[in-house]
Amino acid sequence: MDFRFTEEQSMFADAVRNFAKRNLADGALARAHEETFPRGLKSMMHEQGLLGITIAEEHGGLGGTLMDAVIAIEQIALVCPRSADVIQEGNFGAVRTLAQYATPDQRERFLMPVLRGEEVIAVAMTEPDAGSATTDLTTTATPDGEGFRIKGAKVFPNPNADQYLVYVRFGPGVRGIGSVMIRKGTEGFRVGEPAHFMSGAQWAPLYFDDVYVPPDDVLLPAGGFKKQISGFNAERIGNAARALAYGRYCFNEARTYALERKQFGRALCEFQGLQWKFSDMKTEMEAAQLLLYRAASNADRGLPAADETTMAKLMCNQVGFKLTNEAIQVMGGLGYSQEALIEYCFRRSRGWMIAGGSLEMMRNRLAENIFDRRFSQRPPKNEATA
Ligand SMILES: Cc1cc2nc3c(=O)[nH]c(=O)nc-3n(C[C@H](O)[C@H](O)[C@H](O)COP(=O)(O)OP(=O)(O)OC[C@H]3O[C@@H](n4cnc5c(N)ncnc54)[C@H](O)[C@@H]3O)c2cc1C
Repeated sequence: MDFRFTEEQSMFADAVRNFAKRNLADGALARAHEETFPRGLKSMMHEQGLLGITIAEEHGGLGGTLMDAVIAIEQIALVCPRSADVIQEGNFGAVRTLAQYATPDQRERFLMPVLRGEEVIAVAMTEPDAGSATTDLTTTATPDGEGFRIKGAKVFPNPNADQYLVYVRFGPGVRGIGSVMIRKGTEGFRVGEPAHFMSGAQWAPLYFDDVYVPPDDVLLPAGGFKKQISGFNAERIGNAARALAYGRYCFNEARTYALERKQFGRALCEFQGLQWKFSDMKTEMEAAQLLLYRAASNADRGLPAADETTMAKLMCNQVGFKLTNEAIQVMGGLGYSQEALIEYCFRRSRGWMIAGGSLEMMRNRLAENIFDRRFSQRPPKNEATA
């Protein structure tokens, strides 16, 4: 057991940090306040070798490890928090599901443009009546000739994507769920009026009105739900890494501020009330970091383990958010002001306690693992039909 980066990992972290300082530090504040996904950065990230890090070389990726991708997202977020969105989209989300399950033709048409930095992909899973209860989704895929007609609506995805990995129902029950790829501009597919998350970023409802999907654009047919959800463990590692990196960014800023800012004729760091706050922040930050690195480095030797990923997400989401909040307190009015990135990190990291599996759903999953029993969240049958 060794708790330090390898020499190679240290060199990679340094290289990504230097790249970020050179190219992303200027404009970090303005970027955080843009409402649309920072797609303009994608080709630069591609050229730097920061997209498709974990994807096999024969599938168009770089053949790296999940730890490499975690190091990349952390180093980018520590310099420009918003730019880490591009690393998430190009490494941890739908691209992993595509790399794993797409046909060679689908990889060429859908995955490669994303990895080359030309297109943006998003997942369309959540529906107005199917949030945490994902398997309640009602967007249907009805056979039409060799293909399918898609009908339904989704909520909360990025409206600035070019293509969507859409969860659909081919038949009843969990076994009826699968997924299809749909591009913007396809007849019958409409992106609704954009709304805003608390972070300022846009989301929009998506409407599918008998959209025709050819058989070649079916990613996972009925029975694919478990495969889709297993891809979510990688998504959750990215979510956890970003949340904690936002916390670390705020910790670093608050530390510098506490060293420089003087009140009552003394630097803030000389007040014991603040020293103890920093001691607790540091301890929790490093504990969360270890859970994250354990989940990511064990995943390198196989698929990410559900329980390790769940614990890492639970801890990093909560500690990351707590650090952003404490940093606001340490930095006073400046921390609360939009002149610094701290309040952005606070608003943004709040969302990760809901997205990618809420804290409550993570706890439900962990409890099943602890007791080695399945606890259905559904009402007992007689109650459900009453
Ligand atoms: C920042 C952000 C980005 C997102 N991006 C996307 C995206 O790209 N694509 C997409 O499809 N969706 C996206 N979502 C949607 C996200 O997946 C859902 O918000 C999430 O699954 C929760 O669903 P819900 O909002 O309907 O809440 P609900 O499921 O209605 O839950 C409401 C509350 O009840 C709790 N709860 C529900 N069931 C249980 C239970 N059994 N036990 C205990 N507590 C429970 C929840 O934890 C939550 O606190 C995003 C959300 C956010 C916040």
